[in-house]
Amino acid sequence: MVEVLSKISGARVVERCDRLGVQPFSDIKTGLFRAYLTPAHAATINTMVSWMSEAGMSTRLDAAANLIGRYEGNRPNAPALIIGSHVDSVFNAGRYDGPLGVMLGIECVEALHEQGRRLPFAIEVVAFGDEEGSRFPISMICSRAMAGTLTEQDLAVEDSAGRTPREVLQVFREWMYRPMSNIDPMTAAREPRDVLAYLETHIEQGPVLEAEGLSVGAVTGIAAQNRFDIVVKGMAAHAGTTTMQLRRDAMAGAAEMIMAIETIANEMGGDLVATVGRIELSPGSTNVIAKEVSFSLDVRSGGMNHRDTAAAAISEEMHKIAVRRGLKLELTKLQDLASSPCDKELTDLLETAMERAGHPRRALVSGAGHDAMVMSALCPTAMLFVRCAGGISHNPAEQVSIPDTQAALDVMLEFIDLLEARET
Ligand SMILES: [Zn+2]
Repeated sequence: MVEVLSKISGARVVERCDRLGVQPFSDIKTGLFRAYLTPAHAATINTMVSWMSEAGMSTRLDAAANLIGRYEGNRPNAPALIIGSHVDSVFNAGRYDGPLGVMLGIECVEALHEQGRRLPFAIEVVAFGDEEGSRFPISMICSRAMAGTLTEQDLAVEDSAGRTPREVLQVFREWMYRPMSNIDPMTAAREPRDVLAYLETHIEQGPVLEAEGLSVGAVTGIAAQNRFDIVVKGMAAHAGTTTMQLRRDAMAGAAEMIMAIETIANEMGGDLVATVGRIELSPGSTNVIAKEVSFSLDVRSGGMNHRDTAAAAISEEMHKIAVRRGLKLELTKLQDLASSPCDKELTDLLETAMERAGHPRRALVSGAGHDAMVMSALCPTAMLFVRCAGGISHNPAEQVSIPDTQAALDVMLEFIDLLEARET
């Protein structure tokens, strides 16, 4: 095992993420896969317990196997600033999506501990066990357990071996160095009065910061998302004998619609994104005009109105195209997720912290979901994005730089100072 030599720094954060990127902290021999409640998850917790203890925290596991390190405030039972992220991963993952935010939290606390500083609030560093849906067919089990939004129906899910979360927790508790007295995730919910705020630092998983030459950005919220299933119906006919005027070509119609989606998304501007990521056609022969085409549509924006206006404009334009071409159009809404704004005041504090740490104010919307979205049901949340190379994530090529990680650490420490001033 590689000895960690660096002192409190962004460099050590990256070293620790790298160290957790291989066996025994991965469930696969080559590359990283750390699923919820596996031996790799257990090994990761047991190692983080020692890092948290060195940083001056007391540690415990809650009933959903979230690891919680607590650094007391200047009075007993003070409400906590939770600094958290997840430690599970997708299959063949990068090393920083999730763990980066947890390691940065440990670093913040160790910096305070070294100065012997106690704040008017406690700090809790939380490593959520499941965010990605790494074991069960649902995601964010652990932050939902903590935020109190998990349901019995959620806990009825089964992993690929047919076991429920409660059954797997029964096995998992045996691997822990410390006893888990309670393994019913329904009891892991925190009281709002015990939590001051939630701060999550995460890689951006997108290209915006890199394109603008920025190390960090504050997240204003998590995008509202619509998903549609679209079916375009025309008439199958011979590709050689049917004149162009007589055709009702579902494929050409779908192509025009997809171009219209792109045009409308460009014209709407701002943070709006619209994507057709899947397409199927039938019968799918070289010499037959397509009879039916189905494709997906995903529309997102930080603003619900902006998203809904775009979706309505897209729908209207597609219907026009269908009528002009003599095609039938079926549009079904599959998913409608509301946007989840971060707390305005905390986000402003985070941008001030960025400024004080020597970085320009910049706020952006997260197109992807995060634990912060779930935690907003419990307390005010703030989220910091760190530039990642090429915007690549969920891939072994995922990369963050040491200077950017240092920048995130500096901003988080400034944020804690500002919060201290506010709470004093
Ligand atoms: Zn993540």
